[in-house]
Amino acid sequence: RAKQNGRNTYSFYTESLLQQADVKLKLSVQLKHAIEQNELELFYQPQVDLLTGALTGVEALIRWNHPEKGLLSASEFIELAEERGIIHDISKWVLEQGCKQLKVWQDRGFTGCLSLNISPRDFGFGDFFNDIKQQIEKSGIDPKGLELEITENAIMKRADAIMELFKQLKELGVSIAIDDFGTGYSSLSYLKHFPIDKLKIDQAFVKEMHTDLSDSALIETIINMARGFNLTVIAEGIELSEHASLLIELGCDQGQGYLYARPLPLGDVEALSKTNHWALD
Ligand code: C2E
Ligand code: MG
Ligand code: MG
Ligand code: MG
Repeated sequence: RAKQNGRNTYSFYTESLLQQADVKLKLSVQLKHAIEQNELELFYQPQVDLLTGALTGVEALIRWNHPEKGLLSASEFIELAEERGIIHDISKWVLEQGCKQLKVWQDRGFTGCLSLNISPRDFGFGDFFNDIKQQIEKSGIDPKGLELEITENAIMKRADAIMELFKQLKELGVSIAIDDFGTGYSSLSYLKHFPIDKLKIDQAFVKEMHTDLSDSALIETIINMARGFNLTVIAEGIELSEHASLLIELGCDQGQGYLYARPLPLGDVEALSKTNHWALD
């Protein structure tokens, strides 16, 4: 299509593609050094019991304090890290930081879960299972409080390898949640063969559930089936009180979203804990 518009347009596109590649290269080189430069940080987003408002867990979401661009959220660099083979170092860092923080909170009486996101690419490098096992031992956490989130799509891509990993993780006592559930093409009847504990309903369905009947119908189906399999259901991306009340009506257990709290730096989530008696402070 660019060609039809004449040569100038064509070279314009080519140039901008080159520029894009250049920007990506620069960013990936910077990202490689972000760990040693101390530029990575975990933010924490509370997960609550929809009925009581009690804290059930916290999800760790990575942020990059970029020297020029400021605070970048995970969606702005995780894909790049996966493409460039940097994700494994980042995942190890997240695992270590997360376990250390969970230990502090468990010592203060926190009995919920800390959820860490893991990338499908983590299974391609070294021995990720052993990394997890080692961090659990090193940090001294009760593994019952550690939850790992993996997206539905990632599971479907490498079902056999991931089934094996999940079985091993369950033996360690770790919990497993399926992230972004509903966006992939898996069926719950297939997923029931996996040793999972929790489904996270993707925020895309929550967003319009108060106006789009097909979204709320889908959520209702997920919740009913999950109940049959004895899985906990949490909805992501709850921004409106309408979302929350509808989700309660549909029987959803837990929720997470801006309505309750944004992902927060450590100090802020501990301050919020103080007011809410969440036992993180
Ligand atoms: P996710 O695990 O599904 O996380 C939910 C994303 O939605 C987060 O974006 C969060 O900040 C955002 N969010 C939470 N509540 C709301 C809400 O009410 N409304 C809206 N509009 N958004 C909300 P974030 O932090 O940019 O993360 C994006 C994705 O990057 C995550 O999706 C996860 O797949 C990945 N990710 C985040 N941290 C890590 C990490 O430490 N390691 C790996 N491998 N991936 C990570
Ligand atoms: Mg997640
Ligand atoms: Mg998600
Ligand atoms: Mg996502």
